[in-house]
Amino acid sequence: MAEQRRKPSESSSLSESSASGAVHVDGLTKQYDDVVAVSDLDLHVEPGELLVLLGPSGCGKTTTLRSIAGLEHVTDGTIHFDDEDVTRQAPQRRDVAMVFQSYALYPHKTVRGNLQFPLRKTDISGTEATERVEEIAELLEMETHLDTRPAQLSGGQRQRVAVGRALVRQPHLLCMDEPLSNLDAKLRVETRSELRQLQQRLGITTIYVTHDQEEAMSIADRIAVMNDGRIEQVGTPEDVYERPANEFVASFVGDPPMNFCDPDDVQAAGIETPQSAAGSPDTIGIRPEYIYPTDSRGEPAAGDRVEVDRPSDPVVLTVELIEPVGRAYEIQLTGHGLDLVARLRTRPDDVTEGDSSEFVFDLDRLTTFNDAGEVV
Ligand code: ADP
Ligand code: MG
Repeated sequence: MAEQRRKPSESSSLSESSASGAVHVDGLTKQYDDVVAVSDLDLHVEPGELLVLLGPSGCGKTTTLRSIAGLEHVTDGTIHFDDEDVTRQAPQRRDVAMVFQSYALYPHKTVRGNLQFPLRKTDISGTEATERVEEIAELLEMETHLDTRPAQLSGGQRQRVAVGRALVRQPHLLCMDEPLSNLDAKLRVETRSELRQLQQRLGITTIYVTHDQEEAMSIADRIAVMNDGRIEQVGTPEDVYERPANEFVASFVGDPPMNFCDPDDVQAAGIETPQSAAGSPDTIGIRPEYIYPTDSRGEPAAGDRVEVDRPSDPVVLTVELIEPVGRAYEIQLTGHGLDLVARLRTRPDDVTEGDSSEFVFDLDRLTTFNDAGEVV
């Protein structure tokens, strides 16, 4: 969306409720018969923040979101919105708006009718309702489509109307559960940045569920990485990528994922293995972008923008495959018992499939894990 949009602070009727908006989840457990879907989960969301719940299918994201929205009775734990305990409150009273993957707009109502619908049982009067609808339509860049019916809109526009409909009541909290999964890849990328801008403009606290780590990295203020009903780590996108707490986070965030190596193989390849305070690590991790081919002088061919302060000695590895992926190249490498993927921004000159070449590792970028998979 264009940058000249009105800021929420400028006399916007939509922004008045956005000063508060904190969410505190403490010790949340949700059990269905014999399945523990969510286990003793703590989560604190700041006012105005966009927090992403990220994790594989079945890890408990939807259950967590539905519990916060009041659509599930929790087995244990408490949920507070600001200072108010809402744990036992009915969903209608919680003032949460939900957006799901399948946007159910009323097909026979226009965009205006769809946007107005949530206000019908509120005490928001006719003129104010009209103003709010027009304002949200403008924020969504849908103001010229107010009299259009959903069938005439693109998938991305329909999802924007669904989001608008969720926001028009000015909820305490916006919950989105995989809202873009029905859109094709290009539209997904466009719509997610629009959602992000809209959310920032309105300053509305948002919990956003996805299993797509790239989507999470691109829109989140903070990401809570979930696995098996628990939160493995909460942090900024940079935190969870550069400073993962454990092997699960290191492998789930990043594509291709971090390489995990046996320290004996790393040593056999002549690379200095880092020691930690806890002694010898059980596993050594290195991200694909921190493995570089060497240039003719034996220096890391890292490209102009990258400095490698502590390169390892060169290691001879067999190049199994060079694969162009988007604007990068992924290179599969084997040797010394290692099985690695390197990721390069440009196609390396002297590296050919089936041949052996020298590579160096950035020793400052090695991550060490103990036998429980925790970073040490
Ligand atoms: P996600 O959204 O991360 O894919 P869910 O929260 O939907 O995960 O599910 C977490 C776990 O709880 C899964 O094992 C799922 O099968 C189980 N589960 C979810 N909803 C129900 C339900 N209504 N009844 C029984 N088990 C459920
Ligand atoms: Mg789900």
